[in-house]
Amino acid sequence: MNEWASFLQSAQASLGDSEPVISASERQPSCRAPECSQSVDIVLRSSNGVLFGAHAANLAQFAAGFPPAEFVQKEDADGLEIVQLDERADVLELLLEYTHPQRQPHSKKWTFSLLAGLAEAVEKYMVYGAMEVCKRRMEAYATACPHEVLSYAVKHGYSDIRDMIIPTTLSWDLAEIQSALQDPALIIAWVAYREQYLKLSIALRATSAETILHRGGKFGGARNGVSKLPAAIAQLPDDVFR
Ligand SMILES: [Zn+2]
Repeated sequence: MNEWASFLQSAQASLGDSEPVISASERQPSCRAPECSQSVDIVLRSSNGVLFGAHAANLAQFAAGFPPAEFVQKEDADGLEIVQLDERADVLELLLEYTHPQRQPHSKKWTFSLLAGLAEAVEKYMVYGAMEVCKRRMEAYATACPHEVLSYAVKHGYSDIRDMIIPTTLSWDLAEIQSALQDPALIIAWVAYREQYLKLSIALRATSAETILHRGGKFGGARNGVSKLPAAIAQLPDDVFR
C-alpha cells in the first residue's frame, strides 16, 4: 500500500465510511438465550460494545419495531453486518430472550435501572410479549422512582399510571414536572390542578389561624381540612404560600 492509499484508508475510516463488519474468520458471537439452538444470522452490538448473535426471523416475529432494512444479511464474503443499537448489554440480553418462543425471564430480580432500560426498549422495538410485564413492574416503582415512572407512563401513553402518580407531584417544582410530562398541554393542566389545591390550602390555613386566635390556641375543623388535602400539598412548607 503506497502513501496515498494509506492516507485514503485513514481518511475514510475517520469519516466513518467503512461499515462495521466482522470477518467470517472471526468467531461469531452466539445467541445467549437459554437453551437456544437456532443458527445465528445477524449480529447486534450493544451501546457498550458487546456483540450478540441473534436470529432475523425471531426479531421480525417478536420485535416488530426493528427496521426491516437492518435485518438484511450482508451477502458478500466479508461476514455478517453488525447492527449497532443504543441499548446497553444487560438490557439487550434480556430483550433478546423475549424474541424466543420460550418461558419468559423472571422479573422479580431486575434492578430499576435494568427494568427502565428494558421498558424503553420493548416499547421502541415493539416487543409486545414484554410490554405488560414491564408496565406492571414500572408501576410497582411509582413511589420509589416517581419521576422516571411518570416520564415512562406519559411517553408511552399509560394514562392509568400517569394519573396515579400526578396527585403525588404537587410539591414538585415546575422544572421537574416539565421534564417528566414534556407535553405542554399536560403541563398547563398540572399547573391548574395544583393551583386549586394551593388556593384551598391557603384558605384553610388562614381559617385555621383565625380559629387558633379565637379559641385559645386549639385547632378546629379547618385544621382537619388541611390534613385531608393530598399529602404532597399538606406537607408543603409554609413559605410556599407567601
Ligand atoms: Zn437464540
